[in-house]
Amino acid sequence: MSISSLELEPLVAIDRLTKRYPAAAAFGKPKAWVNAVNGVSFDIRSGETLGLVGESGCGKSTTGQLLARLLEPTSGSIRFRGRELTTLRGREIRELRKHVQLIFQDPYASLNPRHTIGPILEEPLRVHRIGSRAERRQQARDMLETVGLDRSYADRYPHELSGGQRQRIGIARALMLRPSFVVADEPVSALDVSVQSQILNLLKELQRRFALTTLFVSHDLNVVQYMSDRVAVMYLGTVVELAPAETLFRGAVHPYTRALLSAIPSVGTGERRERIVLRGEVPSPLHPPAGCPFHTRCPQAVAECASVPPDWKPVGPDHYARCLLI
Ligand code: ADP
Ligand code: MG
Repeated sequence: MSISSLELEPLVAIDRLTKRYPAAAAFGKPKAWVNAVNGVSFDIRSGETLGLVGESGCGKSTTGQLLARLLEPTSGSIRFRGRELTTLRGREIRELRKHVQLIFQDPYASLNPRHTIGPILEEPLRVHRIGSRAERRQQARDMLETVGLDRSYADRYPHELSGGQRQRIGIARALMLRPSFVVADEPVSALDVSVQSQILNLLKELQRRFALTTLFVSHDLNVVQYMSDRVAVMYLGTVVELAPAETLFRGAVHPYTRALLSAIPSVGTGERRERIVLRGEVPSPLHPPAGCPFHTRCPQAVAECASVPPDWKPVGPDHYARCLLI
């Protein structure tokens, strides 16, 4: 097999992945369901960064957590290196942590405030019984340097670090087990803009160095454009468009993607876009609209959009969208 075909082999493949939450219970039976993720399908190719973008509440984090098996899917399939993940249980899920890791928006929330950084980084190795004490200590200190921090940070407490330094620790901890796949969920959204680019560049460098495949989740289109090889656009629990980043930022076809892009100043080509203002609010995932989920806000919707759910259509090389009008 040639190197290029190896690179194109999907590392992760999800098919009609769905997660619903019981919203209100009456006599122990759920009365209504929140469709957080509603039949999402895509592949993530070995070595690529797939950006997942969309407004708050559209299901990005839920998708990422399903992929890392932090959440139990309601239905659908997740394959990792060809292996079905949805049927994994306890011990097997723990074993999966060696291959799939998450980087969160706010690492502080997940860093034990009573431990110094050294033991925090050593913990995943300890849990998986990797190496001797001395080796774990050494690896944690090496990893600090890898993420651009001095080894002496091993003796500091999380509260002594800045936001950017804490995110470096969050990244370091995610890499301790040498995963091949990382879900980065809004990894720079809590940081000052000046610090964001440092962390994004660090992530890019580490992706190369550790041959990482990444699902990069963000509501920020500029950040997604900078980081992604391909981009999936989510709306109300579904993916509405998927394309190589360059294609998407130059020639998006879905009315929702076009509206999202029109709201940011001149990405890509530098051309001015006409701002498309969407009417109304994102509908509640408790009551997603029939037909196309976007039809209630779509500037181009026709009557049919209210009843016919659009299929996934190829619209160009490696470019897909769900819209009746295409
Ligand atoms: P995003 O990351 O795109 O902002 P999320 O995946 O966090 O979106 O959430 C998608 C939808 O699922 C939202 O409507 C959210 O309120 C709902 N949701 C997320 N987690 C839960 C939960 N544990 N219980 C009920 N609803 C949830
Ligand atoms: Mg989120």
